[in-house]
Amino acid sequence: MLEAAATGFDRTLLFTLPARAARGRLVRLGPVLDTVLAAHAYPAPIRNLLAEALVLAALLGSLLKDADGQVTLQVHDSEGVVDLLVCDYRGGELRGYARHDRARLDDLGPQPSLDALFGQGFVAVTFDLVTSGQRYQGIVPLTGDTLAAAVESYFLQSEQVPTLIRVAVDCSGAQSIAAGLLLQHLPEGEDGRERLHTRLDHPEWDHLAIIGGSVRREELLDPALSLEALAWRLFHEEPDVRADHGPPLTRGCRCTADYYRQVLARFGTEDRRAMVGDNGAITVDCAFCSRGFAIVFDDL
Ligand SMILES: [Zn+2]
Repeated sequence: MLEAAATGFDRTLLFTLPARAARGRLVRLGPVLDTVLAAHAYPAPIRNLLAEALVLAALLGSLLKDADGQVTLQVHDSEGVVDLLVCDYRGGELRGYARHDRARLDDLGPQPSLDALFGQGFVAVTFDLVTSGQRYQGIVPLTGDTLAAAVESYFLQSEQVPTLIRVAVDCSGAQSIAAGLLLQHLPEGEDGRERLHTRLDHPEWDHLAIIGGSVRREELLDPALSLEALAWRLFHEEPDVRADHGPPLTRGCRCTADYYRQVLARFGTEDRRAMVGDNGAITVDCAFCSRGFAIVFDDL
């Protein structure tokens, strides 16, 4: 496996374009993506979908000013071939999984559309800010051909922020790679969530959206092209590009025996007794990692 530091894998570049009142993010996932995907034997269409969602979660997470904050991206459709997809980001830690009906998926062929996978799904984006205790959630219908397009429409509808997102995924090689660009126009400044005077036809934004939209799939996925070099290639005509790094991305999960013990302790004794298996323990599986935990209560 290639060294993340040498290749720019599992890293985020944060940049601003002060002259255009815009900010951007670039993310490229490698080993972290393989680790998340390895938890389940996902068929190719689900691997690609989950890879795209993880990039989006990393892009969303990189917008947090609160270092301990969490972003959760959830796509849900109770009737869908994929009925639940969840990815979250906290402090550089990414995790995710996709629950799906394998038999119905196989009927869809090798490259099912987003519509076929989710039907009438909804996308929920939740920002949990630890320092202020605030939670923001926006829910938008799953429209467009990609999850990235749905998250673009989340920003437009829920936050009134013109946003361009491009995601590229290649899970066919020895090293899975997924990468993305997010670009936002914030003419009223980065702070404050109320933007009453958003103009989608702003000439600054038109120009930026054309440049951002010109990023090629090969550029996003090329491990030899650093995120810095890519940002510079795209925006070299800007008078000022200020760049910084987000925390290194890792695959993280909060599942521990103690955590599940606390969750189970909220159930009544009778309910818990009904969950005890032949081994004398309550078995809980973490959907993110496929790890099983056997929890024993002395009072049962
Ligand atoms: Zn877990």
